[in-house]
Amino acid sequence: MRIAILSRNPKLYSTRRLQEAGIALGHEVDIVDTMHCYMDITSNRPSVRYKGKPLPKYDAVIPRIGASVTFYGTSVVRQFEMMGTYSVNESVAISRSRDKLRSLQLLSRKGIGMPRTGFANHPDKIDDLIKNVGGAPVVIKLLEGTQGIGVVLAETSKTAEAIIEAFMGLNANILVQEYIKEAGGADIRCLVVGGKVIAAMKRQAAPGEFRSNLHRGGSASIVRLSPEERKTAVDAAKTMGLGMAGVDILRSNHGPVVMEVNSSPGLEGIEKATGKDVATMVIEHIVKNAKPNKTKTQGKG
Ligand code: ADP
Ligand code: MG
Repeated sequence: MRIAILSRNPKLYSTRRLQEAGIALGHEVDIVDTMHCYMDITSNRPSVRYKGKPLPKYDAVIPRIGASVTFYGTSVVRQFEMMGTYSVNESVAISRSRDKLRSLQLLSRKGIGMPRTGFANHPDKIDDLIKNVGGAPVVIKLLEGTQGIGVVLAETSKTAEAIIEAFMGLNANILVQEYIKEAGGADIRCLVVGGKVIAAMKRQAAPGEFRSNLHRGGSASIVRLSPEERKTAVDAAKTMGLGMAGVDILRSNHGPVVMEVNSSPGLEGIEKATGKDVATMVIEHIVKNAKPNKTKTQGKG
């Protein structure tokens, strides 16, 4: 097969591993810089051009679209879809997953567990917004944050009000969420590929920190999932319409709750923590599923 990894940086661990695994299984794997692709969208034979030439006809693309380039990145993925190329994650599903509120709204409609969450831009009654998710302590998040930046724990309602007011002053959209204290600063990253959890790790926040992101100094270890956790992760990826997803779950005293669903999950942390060859499993999933014009809009909203 001919596979393209859409990635801005060929040196990134995930990009390198996916390329290596594809080549080892006998495929041709190119790394294509998403931001350097350009497209002729008027032609009735859609194509993607790159460095002065049209790209060859790929059987499959693996989008690794960074959060800061979602808009252009998803339009490149969409162009491949127009050409009938199979994409591990569809453009619509990537866009959905980038907006935390949209994701949670979709998950909630399917009855998937999540922390009690409120959403606001300019609430007139901040105290009511806080009360509505169960009162302080609460977690306040910027709608489009990533790697733990823009996620704050407010221990008291006074602090929560002050933070919400500050974000309001910046005209930011925010989520106010029940703080899952019993998770003890740990979350579980479930890597779902093709409707199965193929690897899972527990991430523990550094001492004195509640955010378990590895970028924030969290440490990873292998974890055994309960059947309910496994089902929650698989259902979340399916609801989002993602073929490959990193589903982040907190262990709350009302069962597993989904915090977010990531459409370009990193491979380094999870391969190292679990010792599993995740990259090969992703390529095997592609080989099984990549049929021309197989990409269709999955999930709704
Ligand atoms: P980001 O997209 O920036 O990673 P997250 O929503 O994943 O933002 O939050 C970052 C981290 O903060 C999570 O991995 C988790 O450890 C912690 N966290 C987030 N929301 C909650 C919550 N409601 N209760 C407890 N911990 C939380
Ligand atoms: Mg996160």
